Amino acid sequence: MGNKIQKDDAQWREQLSPEQYRVTRQKGTEPPFSGDHRVSDEHGIYHCVCCGAALFENEHKFDSGCGWPSFDRPLAKSAIEEHYDDSHAMRRIEVVCSRCDAHLGHVFPDGPRETTGLRYCINSVALDFHAGE
Ligand SMILES: [Zn+2]
Repeated sequence: MGNKIQKDDAQWREQLSPEQYRVTRQKGTEPPFSGDHRVSDEHGIYHCVCCGAALFENEHKFDSGCGWPSFDRPLAKSAIEEHYDDSHAMRRIEVVCSRCDAHLGHVFPDGPRETTGLRYCINSVALDFHAGE
């Protein structure tokens, strides 16, 4: 992707709430069961809260019981990038927005077997839901 959005810290701080900034720009994690995107069954698309890129679709969300919105796949493979994350003494795969590098969450290999087998475990504060899209 050649069109990365680049802003400095002050610009992100101005645009985002403190919690959005902490999660997306400082690789934070919201407390489980704190987000407001876990129970919606509406049709719609989840956008990056930082840059507005379309990232996930509600049809691909499933109830993992883990306390964060969980998807079995991104809207498009190109919408996200995956990086190894060795923090917290474990190897996980970090998921970031491919357009602005916002930290979104992690992907784990314990998703629904009948579909992709993947669980994209995403912080709800990193997402902006547009119903009806
Ligand atoms: Zn983004």
